[in-house]
Amino acid sequence: MKKKIIIGSAILFILIVIIIIILIFTNNKITVVLNGKETEKIEVLSSYNDKSIHVKKGKKLLSKNKYKVSIKSNVDTSKIGKYNVIYSIKVNGKKYDLNREVDVVDTTSPEIVLSATEVERDYCTKKDKVPITYTVTDNFDQDINDKVVIEEKDDKLIYKVSDSSGNTTEKEVVIKYGEIPSNKFTLNGKSKVRVIVNKEYKEQGASYTDGCGNKIDAKITISGNVNTNVEGTYTLTYKVDGMDSINRTVVVTHYDPKNIYLTFDDGPGAYTRKVLSELDRYGVKATFFVTNQFPGYQNLIKEEHDKGHKIAVHTYSHRYKEVYTSVDNYINDFNKMNEIINEKTGSYSKLFRFPGGSSNTVSRKFKEGVVTEIASEMTNRGYIYVDWNLSSGDADVKSNSEKIISNVVDRVDSCNYNCVILFHDYKKTTANAIGPILEELTSRGYTFSTLDENSPTVHFKIAN
Ligand code: ZN
Repeated sequence: MKKKIIIGSAILFILIVIIIIILIFTNNKITVVLNGKETEKIEVLSSYNDKSIHVKKGKKLLSKNKYKVSIKSNVDTSKIGKYNVIYSIKVNGKKYDLNREVDVVDTTSPEIVLSATEVERDYCTKKDKVPITYTVTDNFDQDINDKVVIEEKDDKLIYKVSDSSGNTTEKEVVIKYGEIPSNKFTLNGKSKVRVIVNKEYKEQGASYTDGCGNKIDAKITISGNVNTNVEGTYTLTYKVDGMDSINRTVVVTHYDPKNIYLTFDDGPGAYTRKVLSELDRYGVKATFFVTNQFPGYQNLIKEEHDKGHKIAVHTYSHRYKEVYTSVDNYINDFNKMNEIINEKTGSYSKLFRFPGGSSNTVSRKFKEGVVTEIASEMTNRGYIYVDWNLSSGDADVKSNSEKIISNVVDRVDSCNYNCVILFHDYKKTTANAIGPILEELTSRGYTFSTLDENSPTVHFKIAN
């Protein structure tokens, strides 16, 4: 029993001694430790401050004067790369070596400065009105402006640039499109075309241009049809999907080179009845552009109409200084005459003739541009004006019946198709000339028609 106790005490003693030795040993152990990390990453072009090392004896920090450190370093922060810092430490005559890796890296992204964050783009040309400009700066790379890649996606421009270390920056510019111009759909040629019976109708088509000016005529379909063998008014409809359709009126009529339109202005007056009886004698129908210049003769309007002549408006007063002072004055005066026509004939007239014709320049004295304005307003209201292409010259103070006759019969052949002849039925010289004129023209095979809305319009060039 005693023996066992002795052995146990000895073991305990030995253990205690071992522990004491270990404690003494560890308390005196020299360790050299890096300050900071074993591998340090630092940004290129920054300055590198080495954190050095510290030495411990046991758990205690050893004062710096107790050891010597020499440091060898090849760190160059101006260049990207891996470098080493080698520490040689001498403590109590013993040498220690430590090593640290320093990685000089570039983790800073380049910077893009854009001239704007929005760009307005022309819808048609797809060109930017004020193109975006940019400058790129990088902490390390030299000029990398030319490395910028521009991508377009979902109405955005994406400016992307990467530096030599792969650091990437992206910036967006929103694309705003300008106004989308509207499409145009128009007829080629006139909206109202006349074709002589049995002559060919030539389709001129229509043109469809998108807002950007691209012609896409192939998309046009035409419906309706024209029978040139049958007199009548035909409508052709031009259609493009998604656009309003447009129409052309084609009037197939009988008129021939031998057809003449006789027109009488300024009446009814003192010689209108004589003119009417001459016309009757030859069975000829004419067109009367009537006025109220001779109020006592207004009943003749009904007579003209009843005999099958056409009544059209030549204004009520026929006074330039009244009708040409404004569009309103013209229209008021015009309407006054058309009321009388309606009263006498049962319907208003769509046809009219300007006092002095549409090319008169007298109107300039009263208002600059007034004829142009009247013509446009009256056309908008659906009225049609007709000038003439052969004047009998009967308004000339020096004219006489012989002169009027020769003016007409000598020149009528050069009128070609649409001969519209101007006379004035309030004049005695005219009334006396009409018989011989009709005698001559009928013997030459001419025929006579009244003007209507489908007649060929003879227009002067408006001069005011
Ligand atoms: Zn007149």
